[in-house]
Amino acid sequence: MTKRVAVIGGGISGLTTAYLLKKKGFDVTVCEAADTVGGNVQTVTRDGFTIEQGPNSLLKSPRFVDLVKSLKLEDRVLAADESAKKRYILADGKLEAIGPKSFVNGFFSLKTIFGLMREPFVRTKSPEHESVAEFVTRRIGPEFLDKAIDPFVSGVYAGDPRNLSMRSAFPKLYEMERDYGSLIMATIRRKTEKADPDFPRTFSFRGGLKTLITALADEIGNGIKVASPVSEIEETDGKFRVNGGEFDAVVISTPSYVAAKLIESRDEKLGTLLADVNYPKLAVVILGFKTEKIPAKLDGFGFLIASKEKRPILGTLYHSAVFPERAPDGYQLLVTFVGGVRSGDSLDAKTDDELQSLVLSQLNDILGVAGEPEFVHIKRWAKAIPQYRVGYEDVTAACADFEKSNPGLYFCSNFYRGISMGDCVKNAYATADNVEKYLS
Ligand SMILES: Cc1cc2nc3c(=O)[nH]c(=O)nc-3n(C[C@H](O)[C@H](O)[C@H](O)COP(=O)(O)OP(=O)(O)OC[C@H]3O[C@@H](n4cnc5c(N)ncnc54)[C@H](O)[C@@H]3O)c2cc1C
Repeated sequence: MTKRVAVIGGGISGLTTAYLLKKKGFDVTVCEAADTVGGNVQTVTRDGFTIEQGPNSLLKSPRFVDLVKSLKLEDRVLAADESAKKRYILADGKLEAIGPKSFVNGFFSLKTIFGLMREPFVRTKSPEHESVAEFVTRRIGPEFLDKAIDPFVSGVYAGDPRNLSMRSAFPKLYEMERDYGSLIMATIRRKTEKADPDFPRTFSFRGGLKTLITALADEIGNGIKVASPVSEIEETDGKFRVNGGEFDAVVISTPSYVAAKLIESRDEKLGTLLADVNYPKLAVVILGFKTEKIPAKLDGFGFLIASKEKRPILGTLYHSAVFPERAPDGYQLLVTFVGGVRSGDSLDAKTDDELQSLVLSQLNDILGVAGEPEFVHIKRWAKAIPQYRVGYEDVTAACADFEKSNPGLYFCSNFYRGISMGDCVKNAYATADNVEKYLS
């Protein structure tokens, strides 16, 4: 008889796992609490603008390319504009397009240049539980942390490098040091798994990231049950009961605070660890302007702000410069992030009007934007992105132990082994393979 698998949660992790399991011949049911699938992926089309309330763009990785090809979505892939390679940092009060020039034009001090030259000879290795800030300061120096890494971390995690675990948040860099003794030497020597050279490095889809979600959902078909929150996984005689159905295996693809409730009766300690993961608040303020209201040239991906600048925003994406189809002709779409670990707790006290004017005054100051926006959309995330805090390896190890001691139960979600959409897809491939091995 065809083996049955339940996937709890229909974000990119759950949907990709379900799609791959269905392709392997299993009978798959996705239970999704919300009225629609996609989880963090939320594309909205309104007044000629296509906006992303959650993730905006994707980075090429071998598994993502496999997924796109498997779904036959190649002709829907939207490559980022060439200019997106330019990424600005706001530090010392000015916008700097980060690149080789930044090391000769005075943006980085001689001390930092010396720190980079010395990096291959730094012999120390990451102690257990080192933060991103400690790692970067030890290998290169404090200015590189403040002006390059700190804004980057706020762009990826909406987080603080002083609280994030180097090993869990940036495992590739951690392994480069471990295996080659230097990030620079590893970059030169390391053989990386190469994805299709013709596939764009930074991309999205025509119609937004929703295109990917719709394609996955269409393939899974009537296996998807929306408005179906799961509150319990029962087990009898090696079978699992989820929302009245009986299954041979279950994949948990919910946020950690939901997973905590689903597993706490089997593993109280892991339940507490998962319930304690911090997801900061984040607001995404999306503003559309007539192009003539923006005097600055939007020739890049956007800018991120060093926390030392003490600005009330984290950074802004030049979204329609990267993907021109996102705004009607003659308009530009700017996506600004507010809150995160830096200041998420102050968001509730602000009305949408206050958030809008706060962002407007920053865009006026930084890009010279003049006048009111023609289009406004604000999304508030009460729990945005899981923070892989220093010592997070205990969460990851406890999840792996749980899977070993509870055969047939799996985790595949952004709190486990990577937060980017690329990580979620890679983990979905691995999870589908593990479920297949278990069931055959
Ligand atoms: C604002 C923002 C911007 C981002 N930008 C980028 C970016 O540009 N590029 C990038 O690669 N990544 C980005 N990320 C990260 C990335 O989007 C997420 O890590 C990824 O989408 C998470 O997918 P997931 O399936 O693991 O989890 P989720 O998307 O959180 O999905 C979990 C699902 O579980 C469902 N669920 C919850 N409780 C239950 C229950 N009891 N029963 C059943 N279902 C339940 C939820 O409704 C949800 O659909 C961003 C994230 C945010 C929030």
